[in-house]
This record gives sequence, C-alpha cells and structure tokens, in this order.
Amino acid sequence: MAIVADDVQQTGEGVQIRWSDGKSCLYPYRYLRLQCACAQCIEEMTGRKLLNVASVPDDIIVVDFITVGRYALQFLWSDGHETGIYPYTMLLNLADKDAAVTCL
Ligand SMILES: [Zn+2]
Repeated sequence: MAIVADDVQQTGEGVQIRWSDGKSCLYPYRYLRLQCACAQCIEEMTGRKLLNVASVPDDIIVVDFITVGRYALQFLWSDGHETGIYPYTMLLNLADKDAAVTCL
C-alpha cells in the first residue's frame, strides 16, 4: 500500500508530516519552498530553475494547505505562491535523501 500523510502540522520550524508508515518528518519552510516544482518555479521542458532563490524570504512560512486526492499536498505560502503540488512520493524521497529533512 502506498504511504500517505496521516497528519500535517504547521510548526514553528516547518511542516511536520506524520506518514502512514509511522515515520514523522519535519520539512523546514524555506527549504520546502525551494523544492517547488511547479511551472513557475521550474521550466517544464528543460527542468531549468526559474525561481530566484534570493527572492524567497528567510522567514517564509506555510499559511495554509490542502490535500490533493490521496497523493499530494498543495501549500499556500506567505509570499503568495500557491501553485506548487508536492506529491507524497517526492516528499518521502526528500526525507530519505536530504539531511535538511529530519525524521523520527
Ligand atoms: Zn512553484
């Protein structure tokens, strides 16, 4: 069975996701914003990064979020950005591969 997000919390440091396999991971806000793969942030054809990293405030936070079906989260950021969809597979992959994400 695919792993899904059982619980999502906006904490002081980032987005805390409790996964259905029991793992709980903290994704720092600014880090997560920089991973956005939407068409405004990444050029679809080439994969080139369009997002100007310097334009993303250090104190950016998630203002709100929705779950997309049973496979992704979509965040509303304090910089107004809201088009990014973060598939669970991508978030789980980041948790596995990237030391910026801390899991318990
Ligand atoms: Zn984006």
